[in-house]
Amino acid sequence: MSSERIIIIGSGPAGLGAAYRLKELGYENWAMYEQDDRIGGLSSSFVDEQGFTWDIGGHVMFSSIERFNRLADGLMGQDFISHERESWIRTLKRWVPYPFQNNIRYLPKDKIVECLLGLISAQYSDKKTSANFEDWIYKTFGEGIANLFLGPYNAKVWAVPLNLMSYDWIAERISPISIERIMRNVVMEQDDIGWGPNNRFKFPLYGGTGGFFNEFMPEVKEKIHFRKKLTSIDIDAKKVALNGSEADDYDSLINTAPIDLVTGMIKSGHTDTSSSVRAASQLKHNGIYVVGLGLRKKMIGTKCWAYFPDEEVPFYRLTYFSHYSPNNVPNGDTDTYSSLMCEISFSEYKPADESRLVDLTIESLIREGVIAQDDSRLIVSKWVKKIEYAYPIPTLQRDDNLRLIQSFLLDNNIYSRGRFGAWLYELGNMDHSTLMGIEAVDRIVLGEKETLWKA
Ligand SMILES: Cc1cc2nc3c(=O)[nH]c(=O)nc-3n(C[C@H](O)[C@H](O)[C@H](O)COP(=O)(O)OP(=O)(O)OC[C@H]3O[C@@H](n4cnc5c(N)ncnc54)[C@H](O)[C@@H]3O)c2cc1C
Repeated sequence: MSSERIIIIGSGPAGLGAAYRLKELGYENWAMYEQDDRIGGLSSSFVDEQGFTWDIGGHVMFSSIERFNRLADGLMGQDFISHERESWIRTLKRWVPYPFQNNIRYLPKDKIVECLLGLISAQYSDKKTSANFEDWIYKTFGEGIANLFLGPYNAKVWAVPLNLMSYDWIAERISPISIERIMRNVVMEQDDIGWGPNNRFKFPLYGGTGGFFNEFMPEVKEKIHFRKKLTSIDIDAKKVALNGSEADDYDSLINTAPIDLVTGMIKSGHTDTSSSVRAASQLKHNGIYVVGLGLRKKMIGTKCWAYFPDEEVPFYRLTYFSHYSPNNVPNGDTDTYSSLMCEISFSEYKPADESRLVDLTIESLIREGVIAQDDSRLIVSKWVKKIEYAYPIPTLQRDDNLRLIQSFLLDNNIYSRGRFGAWLYELGNMDHSTLMGIEAVDRIVLGEKETLWKA
């Protein structure tokens, strides 16, 4: 086992995975720097003054990664609640069960016909020649489903024109199409809601999603330094600067901060960094606002979350957050309280007006029948969080740019992993990020091959 100095930047799931593994291996020569004053990154949770717990948008835990599941079970024991997903699409003033394409029978009759005719003509198109994500949606699902849901919903969540995006990341993210199944569902009037890797999920009993990651604290607390922001990297001297001045040396650097920013921080007297910096500046991401509304009212129903493709509604997703754990509301009292969490995306293509966000969100929740007009008087908490880096966007040039950047970083012993460290949305969940951190350590310390992230 090597004993070189390892620096970890960021204490989100990827950084915590790396730290956990180092501790497990009994490795001593490492430190972790976090710009914030808390661990968890995008997977952390917040308790507001009224006692409501909030996540950074709807987070649910589901994983097919055995190594992650073992770790999660070991850290959390019984302190999880298991849920069966109940998710919906709200459009045309109707609730359509998720996945939309399998449940179009809930639409008005003329829209069902539109979807079916679109699907039939899509059977004859060659998906493999799709030029971009938008083209792929139309060729795969046809005009009806594309115009009603997949087009507007994706444009809303990504906040980027869909013709700038690739489609090879999709795999488990969008339900595949079977025209026979869809027709059968319509004719036989049957629901078809089971698809997807997250059809069952777990949620921490206490502390929101961050409650799980807080369990890593005993593993990292001696070596984590809070309010230490990486500000530059000297790849010749192998030194990081923190908060502009303080420095630490590294032999290997595990970076989990956004790769575009970190590449821009690199300084060298010998190496030309300009092509990597240029490639990094072409990576695109969006941001989100999370609007949490705490109500002094019991929530009826069993919905987990709902997607809102329609343009008049500012948010793309609504989470019925008090359904995830009673402890997300004050005193765990779901007979008295409930909570809703809405996500609104923004980007260079789609500005969001923060000043009106909460009012527009409440108006839309009333208009869409989620809460009643009178319920607005029962809103006892309004929590807003702005997140600059929320979704790494799979643009058409992403993979070429990443190849260039990552090979330059690796040549300089920098392992950039995690949601924005690797910038791979398809490997951007909590389990992926945690495992990427673990495997980066196995590679550096034990010389093992990474199985998840690949060059
Ligand atoms: C809206 C939304 C919903 C999601 N839903 C799910 C879900 O349902 N299920 C799921 O599994 N995953 C979900 N995710 C993904 C999950 O949040 C991420 O997988 C996970 O948090 C990524 O971990 P990470 O460590 O790679 O990065 P992050 O969580 O982003 O952590 C990076 C850390 O680095 C720190 N940092 C950044 N820059 C610097 C710097 N210069 N110096 C020092 N520190 C720095 C940050 O403060 C942060 O603590 C969701 C994400 C979002 C945004």
